[in-house]
Amino acid sequence: MYQPFYASSQINRHGDFRSNKGLIKNIISDNNTKFVPVLNGKNLFRQSDENIEACFFNSEQLKTIYPNGIDNPIFLGVANNINYVGIDLDHNNSEMDLWCNENSIILEDLRKYGPTLNDIDASFLSLNNGMTFWHKTHQFCGSCGFKNNTTEAGFVKVCSNIECGKSHFPRTDPAIITLISYKDKILLGRSPRFPEGMYSTLAGFVEPGESLEQALEREVFEEVGVKVKNIRYFNSQPWPFPASLMLGFFAEAVNEDMNIDYNEIEDAHWFSIEELRSLNHPLISGGFKLPRVDSIARRLVDNWINQFN
Ligand SMILES: [Zn+2]
Repeated sequence: MYQPFYASSQINRHGDFRSNKGLIKNIISDNNTKFVPVLNGKNLFRQSDENIEACFFNSEQLKTIYPNGIDNPIFLGVANNINYVGIDLDHNNSEMDLWCNENSIILEDLRKYGPTLNDIDASFLSLNNGMTFWHKTHQFCGSCGFKNNTTEAGFVKVCSNIECGKSHFPRTDPAIITLISYKDKILLGRSPRFPEGMYSTLAGFVEPGESLEQALEREVFEEVGVKVKNIRYFNSQPWPFPASLMLGFFAEAVNEDMNIDYNEIEDAHWFSIEELRSLNHPLISGGFKLPRVDSIARRLVDNWINQFN
């Protein structure tokens, strides 16, 4: 079975550890624990020989830089008998800046180096990105506005107002992403946000009270005016940049007619198998690019191309 990028099957989140405060405390003081840092919303990498690798801390290093400890460490899980804890270093600390300089740390978006990392590291970094983003955006109770306290090793926030006491859980936003085909062609489009020349499958967020299939039909019709049939689920992929879960589908257009909404997308075309293989299209000058290799969009396209091999 296809294993999505950023969702390694070798990770055990051990939800059963989260309420065991003694165990979590031991994990945080254990020098074998790997601390996964985020700094100003970016991940920390370093050059190792030819490769870029993820940078982790141990508890000794952290104690030197942050003698007063780090707020709200998040127990992320276990892989190969090593515990991983997420930390947000997002506050001014000149020691940390110095350490980054001395160790030639590269601060970057995970999406830049994700595809070159090993499966476990990429998955823990992405999990931590999603969790620290949630912490940052849920410091206060959405119901009453009081400050939230953190519990369950970082996986639950509880309102500090005794009269409210609402619990808040990490959020992820479902989005459909779909490869539309018509006979031997597929439909790809581009948004102005995309890297230059990139064309991808259509995607959009699911709205409240909507099934995935309805969201797909609505998004496709809104963006390109195409009616679809035979919607078929493919696979999913966490995309915590910052908080999405991509749900991948195949669907067939009822005909080739398109009516592009240029407020939603910049361009869209039907692509033949030859055009996909050569990355050239008669209506796109200078050729085009397919989506990044770590994305489910690319897996949808590759999966479709492979049926012709
Ligand atoms: Zn509240």
